Amino acid sequence: MNIIVLIKQVVATTNVKLNPETGTMIRDGVESILNPFDEYAIEEALRIKDKLGGKVTVVTMGPAQAKEVIRKAIGMGVDEGILVTDRALAGSDTWATAYTLSQVLKKIGDYQLIITGKQAVDGDTAQVGPEMAACLDLPMIAWVRKIEEITESTIRAQRLMDDGYDVLESPLPALISVVKEINVPRLESLKGKMRAKKHEPATWGVADLPDFDLIQVGLKGSPTRVMKTFTPQRQYNSEIIGGEPPQAAASLYQKIKAMNIVNK
Ligand SMILES: Cc1cc2nc3c(=O)[nH]c(=O)nc-3n(C[C@H](O)[C@H](O)[C@H](O)COP(=O)(O)OP(=O)(O)OC[C@H]3O[C@@H](n4cnc5c(N)ncnc54)[C@H](O)[C@@H]3O)c2cc1C
Repeated sequence: MNIIVLIKQVVATTNVKLNPETGTMIRDGVESILNPFDEYAIEEALRIKDKLGGKVTVVTMGPAQAKEVIRKAIGMGVDEGILVTDRALAGSDTWATAYTLSQVLKKIGDYQLIITGKQAVDGDTAQVGPEMAACLDLPMIAWVRKIEEITESTIRAQRLMDDGYDVLESPLPALISVVKEINVPRLESLKGKMRAKKHEPATWGVADLPDFDLIQVGLKGSPTRVMKTFTPQRQYNSEIIGGEPPQAAASLYQKIKAMNIVNK
């Protein structure tokens, strides 16, 4: 089975800073890592390969330094990596990213399963996976916490829900996004690290992608517009309600009622 795992290089902090002019993320001077959720996606792909054979390829869209996350994936045991990088892609939003990655998948052609992480810890939208499934007209199972059964032509998986899980079955090819409950990602092996050092991923620009529509990418082509960014101000007003518990509870109830957030 040929499995494609989408991986993203993210800033190693959840305290993301945005450029107030362009609304884009400031990445300069911030350490970058492999998106933690994508490690679970890689691990699951490697486990499926162990069972069914085949090949695991990672694809990332980003600047040249995103090769680092490909090397980490190679160190974990992935077969090969593709970096998609081009100045024309700068400023792309999630839709433009999904469009570009889906064109990459069209070029690869021979795959049965695409795995993404649940979300990227910097952008945090969880949109790229579902948008790609839409672009490629593929079935998608989001938030997979366990693959119950997978063959060359079908997958049955548990989708994590707030109150339990659903069991969904889909024909392949399909796209799944995985949550951290699915497995424990392996560390890079010494042999893998040696291979990763020598590995030069394939690097594709937009000119390498057939029928690529430049109008749909970059800051201009992205349908999202960041109009304004700000940090919400938090206000903490605390008050200690004294007295015996029954009176304190009654007093608290009256205060909450006065706030108009309860009906009775
Ligand atoms: C107007 C606008 C301009 C932007 N400009 C820039 C910019 O100039 N530079 C920039 O870096 N970001 C930019 N961004 C952010 C960029 O669009 C997102 O980082 C990107 O689309 C992924 O979205 P996300 O981080 O929410 O990922 P999610 O949707 O949360 O990611 C889910 C999963 O999709 C996969 N995935 C996500 N992104 C990639 C990727 N790039 N390659 C491979 N797999 C991936 C991973 O498996 C990941 O776990 C911009 C966003 C907007 C709205």
